[in-house]
Amino acid sequence: MKSIDDKREQEKRVVTQMIQLYCKKRHHRSDLCPHCREVLLYAIDRSDHCPFMESKTFCSNCKVHCYRPEMREKIREIMVFSGPRMLFYHPVLAVSHMLFTIKERMNRR
Ligand SMILES: [Zn+2]
Repeated sequence: MKSIDDKREQEKRVVTQMIQLYCKKRHHRSDLCPHCREVLLYAIDRSDHCPFMESKTFCSNCKVHCYRPEMREKIREIMVFSGPRMLFYHPVLAVSHMLFTIKERMNRR
């Protein structure tokens, strides 16, 4: 059984790797560009303050959507881009979260 802190840490790790991957492929940067860094800091901040960590699986499929609309759009774009690639690059870390996230997103639209 995982503690909430573990879950929080894992979410932050996954989101960090997704944004790094996105920036590397899309913006051709080895380090994060200022734009992506802002999204990452925001996502980590949201994770830190999320009161629903216990019941939800991942921020991107949280029903509450605490993200500001423009940040939600950015993180969604990053998820759509990096999600399927994460399955390839980091199968162990990514599989459980991402399969669920992608399935959720498909069902919603
Ligand atoms: Zn970038």
